[in-house]
Amino acid sequence: MNKVHFVGAGPGAADLITLRGKALLESADVIIYAGSLVNPDLLMFAKQDCEVFNSAHMTLDEVIAAIHAAVAKGKAVVRLHTGDPSLYGAIREQMDRLCALNIDCEVCPGVSSMGAAAASLKSEYTLPGVSQTVILTRAAGKTSVPEHETIRALAAHKATMVLFLSAGLLETVSGDLIAGGYAPDTPAAIVYKASWPEEKIVRCTVAELAKSAAAGSITKTALICVGDFLGDVYELSRLYASDFSTEYREAKG
Ligand code: SAH
Repeated sequence: MNKVHFVGAGPGAADLITLRGKALLESADVIIYAGSLVNPDLLMFAKQDCEVFNSAHMTLDEVIAAIHAAVAKGKAVVRLHTGDPSLYGAIREQMDRLCALNIDCEVCPGVSSMGAAAASLKSEYTLPGVSQTVILTRAAGKTSVPEHETIRALAAHKATMVLFLSAGLLETVSGDLIAGGYAPDTPAAIVYKASWPEEKIVRCTVAELAKSAAAGSITKTALICVGDFLGDVYELSRLYASDFSTEYREAKG
């Protein structure tokens, strides 16, 4: 039986899909794409007679039924998810259901919006002397967040933080970030639709998140990036330091 390929579509720009992902789209007989966020331009890679479903209008049962029917007919199926499928992709529940039907799956990673946002900001999340940790999280919404992972609890680390799925909840997010440990003037950025033509970047402080999003009319499809990595102070890396030898290079002087 054919394998089903879960493919990361990348953050938006159609040329940010991987070569492997593109090849899988080109050979697919059936593509089920997450239409709420995947750029439909990616469907230009599909064969003329490829059958296309938009999962934004489907339930889990319907998605599984569509995959099952296609695989039973020997068709090559691609399930196209936004960014990298491992982050808030709801792929586990699909793979488990397919496994129960004896349908084999493979995952092709993608460029996550967290990478695209850093690129747009021309920033590095892990600056020496600032933070060597990135916390990826979200505000509790329809999906709850475990009690020990509240934004307030995670904020105590004052690490770099990237919040998904939270752009509509910034009043609460901002309050929790500050109550948890970030100074109100910690730099923050709201990156809307990173890598899309309509991308917007709003730089502000943690205290100003809600006001700044409102001023930019941003309510969704944005990442909230928080931390001193957005500031001007950091240490140089040891990797390229002239007084430091590595496996590939002798220290100078
Ligand atoms: N798997 C995806 C995330 C899916 S959850 C990834 O790796 O990026 C959906 C959330 O991701 C959105 O609410 C938003 O917070 C974020 N997101 C997805 N694409 C984005 C983009 N191009 N720019 C900014 N945020 C994006």
